[in-house]
Amino acid sequence: MATAIVNARVFDGERVLGEPTVVIDGGTISSVGEQAPAGADTVDARGATLLPGLIDAHVHTGEQALALALRFGVTTELEMQGTNTGNNRAHITGNDAMADVRSSGMGITPPGGHPSELIPKDFNPREHSEKAGDRKLRGEPPLMPFSTTPEEAVAFIPRLVAGGSDYIKFMIDDGSVEGHPGLPMLDQATLNAGVAEAHRHGMLTVAHALTVDATRMAIEAGIDGLAHLFMDRPHTGEIIDLIARAGMFVVPCVVLNASMMGITGAEFAADPRVSSRLDQAWLETLRSSFDRYPQGEIDDVLASVKALHDAGVDILTGTDASIPVPFLGGLAHGASVHHELRYLVQAGLTPTEALRSATATTARRFGLDDRGRIAPGLRADLLLVDGDPTVTIADTLNTRAVWRRGTRLAAPQRAPHPAG
Ligand SMILES: [Zn+2]
Repeated sequence: MATAIVNARVFDGERVLGEPTVVIDGGTISSVGEQAPAGADTVDARGATLLPGLIDAHVHTGEQALALALRFGVTTELEMQGTNTGNNRAHITGNDAMADVRSSGMGITPPGGHPSELIPKDFNPREHSEKAGDRKLRGEPPLMPFSTTPEEAVAFIPRLVAGGSDYIKFMIDDGSVEGHPGLPMLDQATLNAGVAEAHRHGMLTVAHALTVDATRMAIEAGIDGLAHLFMDRPHTGEIIDLIARAGMFVVPCVVLNASMMGITGAEFAADPRVSSRLDQAWLETLRSSFDRYPQGEIDDVLASVKALHDAGVDILTGTDASIPVPFLGGLAHGASVHHELRYLVQAGLTPTEALRSATATTARRFGLDDRGRIAPGLRADLLLVDGDPTVTIADTLNTRAVWRRGTRLAAPQRAPHPAG
């Protein structure tokens, strides 16, 4: 049966349309601005704003994390190192109780390179994920594309594609902002060869780069988008211009840079709209931080975001949320998307520009043609919130309803288990 959402202000991913009736039928949006069909269920959304489901453009995820994200109106997560590739995610694609996912698979990095320095020696991520209730990975263990030469990087590309990677991730990191200087890192020739081969396979390429020097290497290699924003120094006109002229998009993950600088999510977690949906492990994680680069300046990061935006660079909302452990703290799936939106507004984007960065812009840059906007024929991935986040960005947390593929999520405002 069709559902008609009436009297809501509609932000379609680009702009506010007024208050057209939006009809959902099956898993898709069947009409916008037309009369509701006879017999449709009606949701009177007076005083609320209807948005496309939000997209987090940088996570490391699993079933529990995807379910948490959905409670915050995040209907798609883009994994930037992980196992949820096309060959592994049928159980997620078909489950409307969790966000949908796309994944790079594992990123190209040398043996011993990033992100190995972030993980304590005695920590087993797979064991952790299974403890958290995620299903065991079946079949082959994930492909680890460790590369130190152009030939090795080139040879891994078709294997990543065959494994269902949706885009190819390259790690460019010498460990300097993580307190691990001298970490093995990809050299320019290996990076260039890997990116060129990925493009030959029609794949989008993204780079992990946290410093200006690593960003320069990504630009030289022809990377399509940056999964982080440099945090080691203030921007110059030159680096902004290079990124803009290269046509790259940037996922600044300000929440991650803040966490790296020791800024926790404790203040954000004090909001009951946030804390009520998190269990104890996620609350503790959000209230802690990475704290690896305390000498960094968050105001420099915010100024860089504004300069990129002013130069016409597409900014995408991302968080780098991963697993609930305090050493990867300051972040929580779903919640941190709302935190990032506030940082983007603090940097100088308008609320509407920030909302585009979590909806239509991300869908366009990642080729997700079926989502990210409210238009006939697209997936009915929708978020309904009280108030008007196109004026007051914090209103994105006033969740009234979430639909994933037309299925309305039960009680998104509450944590599945009471927070202790
Ligand atoms: Zn990441």
